[in-house]
Amino acid sequence: MIDAGNVFEALSEEQVEKFDVFARLLREENRRINLTSVDGVDQIRARHFCDSLAGVVVIEKLFETSAKISLVDIGSGAGFPGLALAIALGHLDVVSVEATGKKVAFQQRVIDEANIANAKAVQGRAEELAHDVQCREKFDVVTARAVAPLGILVELALGFVKCGGYFLAWKGAKGEKEIAEAKAAIETMGGEITEQVKYQVGAEESNLCIVCIKKIKPTPKEYPRKFGVIKKRTLGR
Ligand code: SAH
Repeated sequence: MIDAGNVFEALSEEQVEKFDVFARLLREENRRINLTSVDGVDQIRARHFCDSLAGVVVIEKLFETSAKISLVDIGSGAGFPGLALAIALGHLDVVSVEATGKKVAFQQRVIDEANIANAKAVQGRAEELAHDVQCREKFDVVTARAVAPLGILVELALGFVKCGGYFLAWKGAKGEKEIAEAKAAIETMGGEITEQVKYQVGAEESNLCIVCIKKIKPTPKEYPRKFGVIKKRTLGR
């Protein structure tokens, strides 16, 4: 069992300072725009920072390299897990994709003020960007947390992943059920589940996990479809 709290504890002083700026901006901007339901500094650290940082252990295990790794985080909201991962792992090149302009503007402020040189925030919809030649099958890793059920999420995500790369989905209690329902969608999109990495934040017991899906063959051109179609006719249902 991974304890994501340990990842935070192992950060350098400079990285902790960046997270402090991130937390300050999150609390400040949360009064104007709805970014998160948690407001306490400790809760922000546990539920957003540490939770995102569970991905550090997974990425380090899957890619035993210090060479550049390209990562796109889809539906990143206030920047989770994408910006947190960029702070923790300097060899990541992070593109943080979010549909809502205000949230992208918030992320840009965090990138500027916390000086996160290896991340950029982009406003867009995953199902459209996944067809862009500059994005199609161009990323080593795709991440997503709290965006959609797995069957929908794999259609949004796998078009971005290079063959041999991974899609990492942060999941909680419904993980098992979602996996069972997403089997056909994963196969259609060219993926294969390789493992489910369980993690917790501190001593608190949890059923949190990161579902690791490897891209084993190219995604057929017609996917992802328009969002309304993905929802209405989810693959495998
Ligand atoms: N990943 C963040 C935010 C979760 S909320 C976190 O874990 O805290 C889900 C976010 O996904 C919302 O901000 C929403 O605007 C965005 N989103 C939903 N569907 C999307 C899509 N198809 N493309 C891009 N962003 C999307």
